Amino acid sequence: MNKSEYIDEAEKVLLRTYNRYHIVLDKGEGVYLYDTDGKKYLDFAAGIAVFAFGYHNEEFNEALKSQIDKLIHTSNLYYNVPAIEAAKKLTRVSGMERVFFTNSGTEAIEGAIKVARKYAYNRDGKADHEIIAMRHSFHGRSLGALSVTGNKKYQEAFKPLIGGVKFADFNDLESVKAQITEKTCAIILEPVQGEGGIYPADKEFLEGVRALCDEHDLVLIFDEIQCGMGRTGTMFACQAYGIKPDVMTTAKALGCGVPVGAFLTAGKAVDAMVPGDHGTTYGGNPFACAAVSKVLDMFEKEKITEHVNEISVYLEKKLDELVEQYDFIEGRRGKGLMQGLIFNAPAGDVVVRALEEGLIVITAGTNVLRFVPPLIITEENVDEMIEKLKASIEKVFK
Ligand SMILES: *Cc1c(COP(=O)(O)O)cnc(C)c1O
Repeated sequence: MNKSEYIDEAEKVLLRTYNRYHIVLDKGEGVYLYDTDGKKYLDFAAGIAVFAFGYHNEEFNEALKSQIDKLIHTSNLYYNVPAIEAAKKLTRVSGMERVFFTNSGTEAIEGAIKVARKYAYNRDGKADHEIIAMRHSFHGRSLGALSVTGNKKYQEAFKPLIGGVKFADFNDLESVKAQITEKTCAIILEPVQGEGGIYPADKEFLEGVRALCDEHDLVLIFDEIQCGMGRTGTMFACQAYGIKPDVMTTAKALGCGVPVGAFLTAGKAVDAMVPGDHGTTYGGNPFACAAVSKVLDMFEKEKITEHVNEISVYLEKKLDELVEQYDFIEGRRGKGLMQGLIFNAPAGDVVVRALEEGLIVITAGTNVLRFVPPLIITEENVDEMIEKLKASIEKVFK
């Protein structure tokens, strides 16, 4: 079948929840993807901040294959060795104490919300607690995660959502304070907002939120699903700020393509949940955890965070040159290899043109072009991306 035949078939059988770009991806090699027509694409999206090591990584693939031949699944009624090893490594690199493995990011958020509610319930025996979330946040599409996602467009048709969620402005401590009541049990935020438009938190804001949580005995939840796993130059973004949450969520690059997420607990929230409070059939199965374990080994061995800190200086410089060069680009925001270029108009057409040029990039919000490449990119990859990007934006904005 050729590309349009595949797409016709797809539109008959897949639920139409996405306006997909008109390419059918077939295989990957390093930082490049190939479609079914054999066209090559430089990938600066990494499957939405997932494929940290690029595609077809021998070492990673071999680890997965050998786990497949050994044991794929057992359920959580029993222990399994890959889960124990993955949890040991993940707690070590995150500074958290306990892990619950999930199958996705949104499911990690569900767990985090339950930890917060349970913590408050243990404290006062009441069941009407409130959570403070941020405007322009994104935490996922299941109903609990959607309830704390500060985007009306995603929420409207699916109400009623879970109750007791209040929204505050990101990087505005006073607006957070104004939402605290005696019912508040948690504050949830992304240390670097992703889908909402690539907004890094200010240090004083995170410090202030941490202090509020200590003062009012609230659970601080950091959603590191996108900004964690080395993306911003430290294993988790909050580590660069020197601030530790009570609950942290991770997913995306955690399994580098194998669907797995996790929520982690520490300090006062560490054992808020007890046997019977939560469960999952697949979560933390030996296959997914073998992936996590291998990913964390490779991060360490290949000194990925050091590389991110080096290469992101170069990426920032090149993106800043574009800001200088084109007056329809208003600025750049971001941290490490999580960068956004802010246009003075919708950036969606640039994505389409870029695909024609053989470059994969994505948007974040309407006017922001997002760069979340594999973490192993080189200066040559950045140069190639900039060339292709220039060709694309000059077609859209002329
Ligand atoms: C992607 C994302 C999620 C949701 O993860 P899924 O695996 O798509 O369910 C939640 N929070 C943030 C910050 C994300 O970027």
